[in-house]
Amino acid sequence: MVNVYIGLGSNLDQPKDHIRLALEDLKKLPQSQLVLASRLYLSKPVGPQDQDDFINAVALLTTTLEPLALLDKLQAIEQQHQRVRERHWGPRTLDLDILLFGNQVIEQPRLKVPHVQMDQRDFVIGPLLEICPQLVLPNGTPLQHLLQQCPIDGLICVDA
Ligand code: AMP
Repeated sequence: MVNVYIGLGSNLDQPKDHIRLALEDLKKLPQSQLVLASRLYLSKPVGPQDQDDFINAVALLTTTLEPLALLDKLQAIEQQHQRVRERHWGPRTLDLDILLFGNQVIEQPRLKVPHVQMDQRDFVIGPLLEICPQLVLPNGTPLQHLLQQCPIDGLICVDA
């Protein structure tokens, strides 16, 4: 079993509901167990600001799936949510990213782990700190050290 951290994000169509449903979907993944999920956080969009704020969360899974098999499953979940999106709403209903896959460093065309720029995203670091404050990245950097370069003061927890 490998510990895998998944980043979840949504900024359309009742984003909190999409994140909560996606967490239920993660519970149903084969060969996997959902161990922990963070609370939900509100964050400013990266890039263009003429879109709604995002709801983000992070989940810890244990799995025996291979990395690309897990990516396939996550993309299938995204597609399920996109079907709703295509009927009624715009893009980015649900984004699922593999942030960390054990201590592996993966450089493949379809999959780069650790997720690109995760160490610069408050909406990743904040929820990760909540569920695993002692986490150390594959390059040996303790998660807590990232707060110096990426403060999480702007992150708002929106869970009751
Ligand atoms: P986006 O929807 O903008 O997050 O990008 C999705 C694309 O990123 C897909 O084509 C994936 O194959 C690729 N990708 C690369 N690394 C990762 C990762 N660690 N987690 C999820 N998708 C990834």
